[in-house]
Amino acid sequence: MADQRLFFALWPEAQVRDEFAALAHASAPGEGRRHRADDLHMTLVFLGQVDPSRRQCIEGVADAIRAPSFELTIDHTGFWSRPRIFWAAPDTTPEPLKQLVHDLNHGLRGCGFEPEQRSYKPHVTLYRKARHAKPTPLPAGIQWPVREFVLASSANPGSSSTRYQVLRRWALDDAGEETG
Ligand code: ATP
Ligand code: MG
Repeated sequence: MADQRLFFALWPEAQVRDEFAALAHASAPGEGRRHRADDLHMTLVFLGQVDPSRRQCIEGVADAIRAPSFELTIDHTGFWSRPRIFWAAPDTTPEPLKQLVHDLNHGLRGCGFEPEQRSYKPHVTLYRKARHAKPTPLPAGIQWPVREFVLASSANPGSSSTRYQVLRRWALDDAGEETG
């Protein structure tokens, strides 16, 4: 098996995915390449190029996570001019999301990964290579019930096959349920 480019992410199910796709369609930021609906996701931790031997360690970290499901409200869009990315994001990051990212990073140290130094900024990329975009508030917001997280791979840039692939899913605990 060859190395793979991997990342942990939240992947919306069909209804929420369609809301993101509609938002992307409605907020076209001038030029840019819109993400396919099936590619829309929120990265939790980017791992980069991973050889097969470390894959097992990574999956073990995810197996050990005990975290609650949570509700995410996507409230606004924005634009980062340097990577030229137009995105949608929550106004505030829910505590369980921060905790999930923290726990993944903490566990991944044991697999030899250095945690990201920059603070975590949850976002769903809607457009790449955008030129400009004025931030748009979303009065109703997109309500995203987060019930699982996934390990995904990203294909070689320029390949005609699906860009991202969900490799494995891990359920988050039901809200209100005792965990142990
Ligand atoms: P490309 O790099 O080919 O333009 P991409 O950024 O979507 O496309 P990847 O670089 O494989 O593809 O990234 C996969 C996911 O991880 C994306 O959501 C991307 O935003 C995120 N990501 C990539 N690099 C980093 C990084 N250094 N830190 C945090 N997240 C990252
Ligand atoms: Mg990239």
